[in-house]
Amino acid sequence: MTAMTPLDAWTATRLGLPGKRLDRQILENYQLDKLSATVRFAVANSPFYRKHLGQSAAAGIRTLGDLTSLPFATATDLRSWGAQMLCVSQSRINRVVTLDTSGTLGEPKRLWFTADDQSLTVDFFQAGMSTLTRPGDRVLILLPGRRPGSVGDLLAQALARLGAASLPYGWVTDLAAAARFMRQSRADSVVGSPVQVLALARYTTGRVDLAEFPRTVLLSTDYAPGALIREVERLWGCRVFDHYGMTEMGLGGGVECEAHSGYHLREADLLFEVVDPNTGERQPDGCEGEVVFSTLTRRGMPLIRYRTGDLSRILPEPCACGSSLKRLDRLGGRLDSILRLPTDGTLRLSEIAEGVFAVPGTIDYTATVAVDGHRVKLAVSVLTLGGRSSMWETVEAELERIETVRNARAAGCLELRADSRECDDGVLPVSGKRLFRKVT
Ligand SMILES: [Zn+2]
Repeated sequence: MTAMTPLDAWTATRLGLPGKRLDRQILENYQLDKLSATVRFAVANSPFYRKHLGQSAAAGIRTLGDLTSLPFATATDLRSWGAQMLCVSQSRINRVVTLDTSGTLGEPKRLWFTADDQSLTVDFFQAGMSTLTRPGDRVLILLPGRRPGSVGDLLAQALARLGAASLPYGWVTDLAAAARFMRQSRADSVVGSPVQVLALARYTTGRVDLAEFPRTVLLSTDYAPGALIREVERLWGCRVFDHYGMTEMGLGGGVECEAHSGYHLREADLLFEVVDPNTGERQPDGCEGEVVFSTLTRRGMPLIRYRTGDLSRILPEPCACGSSLKRLDRLGGRLDSILRLPTDGTLRLSEIAEGVFAVPGTIDYTATVAVDGHRVKLAVSVLTLGGRSSMWETVEAELERIETVRNARAAGCLELRADSRECDDGVLPVSGKRLFRKVT
């Protein structure tokens, strides 16, 4: 039998019903109250929302469906008007996170959190981590955690409440050093980004005794291809749980249960919608679209109908674990990671990722696109580990299995080139979220 996600009981407690089964009607009444309060609060305290939503916006929200009458907030709004979305004085801000500082996308995104906002994230992390950790476990954290309020720090606070020990490490740059740390610290669980955890799993296989591998893994911070998850599970003989979240959500958004069938959502703090990315119309459950969320409990910088750019769908059928919480399907990629081909087809970066990670020995990749008239040139560079330097033929063959790739190549409008190189001395390159790199 599949154990019910601990998020269910946690959400019931948040609704003031500890020990009771979570009731959807009560949850939705709570969400409506919180949503109306958030809109009122934002309009009263933020110049941006006053103008964006209008003075009387809260009066128009009588049902959760009325939310669709409100305009979306976008990443561009965040970049342009971030400071005006702030709803409390700077003195009440406990943490500011600056994202996308490369300058390639214009102004960076800034997000402001109060101590209470962060405390809610710790609560969510505590409930979410209890899916895969037990009291007494030792949890290796391969995420930044030095600064107070950083993701690693909040996770360590949550683990302390669970009675688990946290082993903060930070991003992995040197695989040998990280493997040594993992072995010496005897970690029961590992939390990290998908490509970094896969690289560590490949590196340690054959070097570390199987008994010393972690029992469970939580992947976070980036899209985790199914092929990568299966490979980590195979290499370490562990269970991998995937987490969905972004800084804008207050880091945590949803986490898989033991059924590994979509993310149970953090519905006490966030209200999720899925909309048609072109028309903005609400999509029925089961249909894919852009994930949009509204914060229900945030004070520093509430976000109302924030467009994430992520593609997914609400799973219509109940989860095998029996939870009443909504589930978001594994992501189908990002809107900015869809390549339109001259043959009318589209190719998603997530499809390329699945192909790349299906090849033994791969640990990371980049995909570069150049458009030359009616011809698209796609170059996929793969990083490998374990003496498998010349893998390009296998990678090409794997990508050729994607129907759109096959059709576009046959029609002569897609030029695909794969190359591969061995990761030198186990030193990982710095890599953020995976995107199509465009060259002209
Ligand atoms: Zn479940």
